[in-house]
Amino acid sequence: MKLTFCGAAKIVTWSCYYIETGTTKFLVDCGMFQWPKEVTRLNYEPFLFDPKQIEFILLTHAHIDHCGLIPKLYKQGFNGKIYATSATIDLSNILFEDSAEIQEKNIEDENRRRKKNHQEPRVPMYTLDDAKACKKFFSPIEYTKTFTLNENIEARFNDAGHILWSANIELFVTEWSKKTKIVFSWDIGQRGTPIVQDPTLIADADYLLIESTYGDKKHEDTAGKEELLVKYTTETFNKWGKLLIPSFSVERTQELLYFYNIIIKEGKFPAEKIFLDSPLSIKATEIFKKHTEVFDEEALHKYPHPFDFPELECMESVEDSMKLNTYNDPCIIIAGNGMCTAGRITHHLRHGLRDKKNTLLFVGYQADGTLGRYILEWEKKVRMMGMEVDVNAEIEKINGFSGHADGDQLLRWAKGFTKPPQKTFIIHGEGNAQIALKSRLEEIGFTCEIPSIKDQVEL
Ligand SMILES: [Zn+2]
Repeated sequence: MKLTFCGAAKIVTWSCYYIETGTTKFLVDCGMFQWPKEVTRLNYEPFLFDPKQIEFILLTHAHIDHCGLIPKLYKQGFNGKIYATSATIDLSNILFEDSAEIQEKNIEDENRRRKKNHQEPRVPMYTLDDAKACKKFFSPIEYTKTFTLNENIEARFNDAGHILWSANIELFVTEWSKKTKIVFSWDIGQRGTPIVQDPTLIADADYLLIESTYGDKKHEDTAGKEELLVKYTTETFNKWGKLLIPSFSVERTQELLYFYNIIIKEGKFPAEKIFLDSPLSIKATEIFKKHTEVFDEEALHKYPHPFDFPELECMESVEDSMKLNTYNDPCIIIAGNGMCTAGRITHHLRHGLRDKKNTLLFVGYQADGTLGRYILEWEKKVRMMGMEVDVNAEIEKINGFSGHADGDQLLRWAKGFTKPPQKTFIIHGEGNAQIALKSRLEEIGFTCEIPSIKDQVEL
């Protein structure tokens, strides 16, 4: 069988892996290239395979960099099945529609510019109709149950502990009477988070693909993240400022709300307003409410309904969002997107960054080339939305909220294998993170490779 690395090789986004056996062609994930903005046009490049020939997709979780190009695949002729857990299906459907709306809006803006320059208009990568049409391809999968894809291929999804109902995959392919097992670690979560379970360990594999997002990092503040949240919130409120939190809509936002509910109930700071200013996050939170069965039981018992508390206000409309510009009391604004490259957070930054009373608090990964990364690296002036903005607000970061395991935790997960796989491919990471994880895995006897995009290997 042949495996092609179509994305998330030497970069963090764009997860897409193409597998050809003698009889079947299929994908693991079909994600979008997210940043930096200048290279997001790569999403418009042709696929490295024929979408019409893809029989099925095994979808690990509902993050746009893992599922975002599925509507494009459909638009180009994909007519197979998508296997995913039930919450992944619900969440993917809202992500597809949100992404389609962004595509359509961006192209509309671009075409206005192109018209002025007498250039041909472009068409969106996919439309809302394409996004909606993908619903019919999904087939729900339960954790830990081996299912048959055809007479030669079986798979098993296990909890990856990264976001709600995310999965790692054990794939079994039989060729010439020989069974080969490939494990896709996928985004490996941290242990001990309140909403999702700990990542499932896998005992054996012939081949392993392992993520490396934080392969060279240690999340120093995991245990103390709640205290840090209290600290930064209190400091901002004491200055009568706004706490601006760019947040990923799926998982990170819900984890923040989960903690804020507890912190407020325990009276750890004045119960000021928390504005959830993101239609996508609001929809995702509704889906989380349907799946409370996986949350930390002890906390749920003590503080039920983690996403319904009086201080939380959901801002659906643009008008509601704009009202926050003139809201003068201390407050928390949680808005997308998580790396400040687009979305309502950019408006709050434009209004709020120059005011030293405010705090910008990062709770997630900021990739190279994103506005979030520029600000984090202490740029004192940023250019955004066509203007220069002074950065006078306090800039803080809590790494402990990461949905990804750090280097130690990745190694701990890899040690779950009773013997090293024949070959391990280190993917979904950037330069140093990949090199660091490679050398740590080699210390425990793994044979590793760091593939590039378009590389093909025979398994
Ligand atoms: Zn993810």
